[in-house]
Amino acid sequence: MSKKDKKIVLFDIDNTLIDSEKIGRLCTKKIVQACNTSNEKFEKILNRYVKSLNSSTDFNPDELSELLTDNFKVSSILLKKIIFEKKDSYYKSLFTETVEVLEKLKKKCILGIFSEGQKKYQITKLINSGIFKFFDNNYIGIYRRKLKKKVIDSLPFGAIVVDDKKYVVEELLKRKDLTVYWLDRQKSDEGLGLNRISSLNEVVKKVLG
Ligand SMILES: [Mg+2]
Repeated sequence: MSKKDKKIVLFDIDNTLIDSEKIGRLCTKKIVQACNTSNEKFEKILNRYVKSLNSSTDFNPDELSELLTDNFKVSSILLKKIIFEKKDSYYKSLFTETVEVLEKLKKKCILGIFSEGQKKYQITKLINSGIFKFFDNNYIGIYRRKLKKKVIDSLPFGAIVVDDKKYVVEELLKRKDLTVYWLDRQKSDEGLGLNRISSLNEVVKKVLG
């Protein structure tokens, strides 16, 4: 199959390929230790930082590190090492089916990313969890606001997109050429009529038949 005949499948990152809350929990443990503080004191700084953001997708670990350095007199180099270089927090946070699904799809499709967030941190998640190798560099899209019209307009014609957020799916469906799957791991009652799946395994079935 030539490259131009292959289907393009674009994945959101957070809570689609990887359990972001779990990354947070695992990193937090190490950070609290490094800061030589309590969970409560750490949470206070974290919550204050998160509240200051316009959107949770603006989360920037470098900024958080600076705040922690100021508050706990801990080396920011050490904190950044914990956040960006300790790989176990990332690969332990992949959903159980993620790697197998990407392996299967990669044989027949071009895989890409359609994600929102700080580019450096999102790429760190892909590299440290070991899944970066599955994606075609030409289709790695990480945006501060991925639902801007010009961003949606730039998605490849006829692509398949997988995202855990219902409002993202609804917005993308305005482009009639796209096939969009809503990954609803909680199996909520809402969203009937949307292309709803509860695990990434279903993407393999739907795309490869
Ligand atoms: Mg997501």
